[in-house]
Amino acid sequence: MNYICIDCRSRYSLDSNKWKCKCGGLLNLEYEKKAVDFAKTSLSRNHSLWKYIDVLPFEMEDVWQEITLGEGDTPLIKISENLFAKAEYYMPTLSFKDRGAVLLISIAKKLGINRVIADSSGNAGTAIAAYGARAGIQCDIFVPESTSSKKIKQIEAHGAVIHKVPGTREDTAMAAIAMVENTHSFYASHIYNPIFWEGTKTYVYEVFEQLNGKMPDVFIVPVGNGTLLMGAYIAFQELMENGQIKRMPKILAVQAENCAPIVHSFTKGRNTVEPVKSFETLAEGIAIAVPARGTEILQAIRATDGDIIGVTEESIIQARKELALKGIYVEITSAANYAGYLKYVEKYPGLKNQQIVFPLCGAGLKSN
Ligand SMILES: *Cc1c(COP(=O)(O)O)cnc(C)c1O
Ligand SMILES: [Zn+2]
Repeated sequence: MNYICIDCRSRYSLDSNKWKCKCGGLLNLEYEKKAVDFAKTSLSRNHSLWKYIDVLPFEMEDVWQEITLGEGDTPLIKISENLFAKAEYYMPTLSFKDRGAVLLISIAKKLGINRVIADSSGNAGTAIAAYGARAGIQCDIFVPESTSSKKIKQIEAHGAVIHKVPGTREDTAMAAIAMVENTHSFYASHIYNPIFWEGTKTYVYEVFEQLNGKMPDVFIVPVGNGTLLMGAYIAFQELMENGQIKRMPKILAVQAENCAPIVHSFTKGRNTVEPVKSFETLAEGIAIAVPARGTEILQAIRATDGDIIGVTEESIIQARKELALKGIYVEITSAANYAGYLKYVEKYPGLKNQQIVFPLCGAGLKSN
């Protein structure tokens, strides 16, 4: 298994601690995968994402056994005839980021690393801090100063060193990267390290199995840095390659209108994402003005014949209320997904007859 540059195809071993190619290109992961045997997994008594071990970069008897907190295998809740919500707030740290974090920290542990650095708008940092604590790995977590105090408390509780950075989310990333470079540490980044997506892809494997081996027509996914989106797309590709699905489901992506660089580039037909003027949004978890993986995100949406839209602040608040009145309490960022669903149904009335899954990414108590 190694990292491979998406531009010049240079390869790096995992213990190189590389997070970017010497040419400046982003790194993807290259390794031998098998196919999931769904006849076997459906009978598995392992109720976590690790039942998909055949498509994960680990062996059965491996270091993950000491690090897992039972993440994954989250409920799929039927909202109406064709609409399902995947309840990712059932995760150990109450957001889907645990899917990626458990893999990243397991790899770090396997490499004998004792300190990692990460930056996040909150939930990824929380997940890294929790698994880091479990693995006995010291974590330095960088967050924007404006991050919800609940998330900051959660990170601190796990014993991580927290660095609150004034300014934008990009300033936070730069501060983390500076420390990575100065200390030659492992950068446990959910954006740069492709191992994270190996975890988030299990979201799709679970849905496929929960719908009895039938893919929904549409996955609604939020996009900040695109970690759930990229994971979903990798799963679609694997399932296609292994002949387990015949066509790709559509990705219908959602951003907050106040910070929507990918919506902007997509509508303009561009292949790269340029920074756009953005405004504050209550959806802190997807407020990414300069997504590092923008080009790959655009490619993934287009490859599924998908779409991306922005939702307003008012519609996010309204969607959160509506979900709560159905018994579902999500953090504010996460309500953008349901707001996105409601807007998509107006844009494409035919969607009413299609099977759709949207995620409940984070728990309601995470928001201030
Ligand atoms: C991380 C996160 C997202 C999606 O963000 P990406 O940066 O695209 O991975 C959405 N909602 C919540 C609650 C999150 O924590
Ligand atoms: Zn390169």
